[in-house]
Amino acid sequence: MKARCCCGALLEAKALEEESPLSYHLHLGCTACANWVTASGRLEEITQLVERTLWSNEGRHELDRLPPYIELLVREEVESYAAQAGCRVITVAVFHEARNRGRVAWAPAAKDRLANIPPQIRSMAKVEIERMAIEQGLSEVTEALMDEAKAKFLGMRGRP
Ligand SMILES: [Zn+2]
Repeated sequence: MKARCCCGALLEAKALEEESPLSYHLHLGCTACANWVTASGRLEEITQLVERTLWSNEGRHELDRLPPYIELLVREEVESYAAQAGCRVITVAVFHEARNRGRVAWAPAAKDRLANIPPQIRSMAKVEIERMAIEQGLSEVTEALMDEAKAKFLGMRGRP
């Protein structure tokens, strides 16, 4: 999908803000004039307007927090992971997914339960659960950990 400016030139994806797992804001700049446009929507919607690999502001922030000598390595690692996975947009979720790759395994039963999580929040849930596993020193996500994660997520959602 391509978006055009009112001047007729193509708009190019320049920056992405992650507001929530269901809401993203993509800033597009005109390639000919000084016009800017913001497209808001779900990740799969705004991804259609992104032609080249684009880091979200929040994803870039994760990268900026690393020491400079690791930053370059991590950037390459994450970008090659994203390219293999076919995602042009590098969000915080993709960043952590790439970083955690190979470090946390999923027990088959836990994997089945992950598949039952609605697609809109699955990648976020996966990252969050893997983070919990790493924090607890586990090398595998078990059903017990998923129960714990579920209680934690529901607790978060239940708070006013
Ligand atoms: Zn224009």
